[in-house]
Amino acid sequence: MIKVSQLSKKFGDLTVLKQICFEVQQGEIVVIIGPSGTGKSTLLRCLNYLEAPTTGQITIGPAEVDASHASNKHIHQLRKQSSFVFQNYALFANKTALENVAEGLMTVWREPKAQAMATSQAILEKVGLGDKLGQYPAQLSGGQQQRVGIARAMAAKGEVILFDEPTSALDPEWVEEVLAVMQQLAQEKQTMIVVTHEMQFAREIADKVIFMEGGVIVEQGPPEQIFEQPQSERTKAFVSRAT
Ligand code: ATP
Ligand code: MG
Repeated sequence: MIKVSQLSKKFGDLTVLKQICFEVQQGEIVVIIGPSGTGKSTLLRCLNYLEAPTTGQITIGPAEVDASHASNKHIHQLRKQSSFVFQNYALFANKTALENVAEGLMTVWREPKAQAMATSQAILEKVGLGDKLGQYPAQLSGGQQQRVGIARAMAAKGEVILFDEPTSALDPEWVEEVLAVMQQLAQEKQTMIVVTHEMQFAREIADKVIFMEGGVIVEQGPPEQIFEQPQSERTKAFVSRAT
């Protein structure tokens, strides 16, 4: 389970996140929507401590960090509980698909190479890339690169996978295959937090939708509420523009 309390983030004088609170149960899929510049990416990055929050508490599975007294040890434990799928894939260009997936297993989890490679191969087969193990990112399509990115996140043995607009850099023809892999993960009850502009997908896949604007959570609830009966005028205005 994931619990975020009173999370705030400032960049200098600019307060980007204000008193963010939410919970995610194991196996739940939470989708975060909201206008550009609203703090969605910053929130995901804070969960993984890619950015240090200014205040607040984050619990992910067994790991717990309080921003006011976060030790390196606790931050390291928190980082191990989530993995990131980036908009631009962020793969190592000089490593093969297989090596990209295996890397974290060897460095973060200290798995022996043979074991890490075997696990990684099985995961790449699962995302339909069993025939691309030895290819370098430049030799793969955008959709295939992003599936390697998701495979890498699946290999990490954390509690949750964080997706930051995983399809928005893709040519339209590759979007479906990436969404299909995410659907597959959802069916397997992989806990996920997904920032996306794909409203139709959000509606289909989400157990809970969080609408953010101006660094605050305006409204959160099941997709039927957010998309069909929003409680807030701001939510209503956003979803009617976005859908
Ligand atoms: P988008 O939908 O365009 O991706 P977003 O909701 O993900 O937007 P963020 O990227 O989280 O928005 O940015 C929120 C605010 O924080 C913006 O005003 C942005 O300029 C600011 N910001 C983000 N990162 C930094 C940084 N490293 N330093 C200073 N300001 C930042
Ligand atoms: Mg963003």
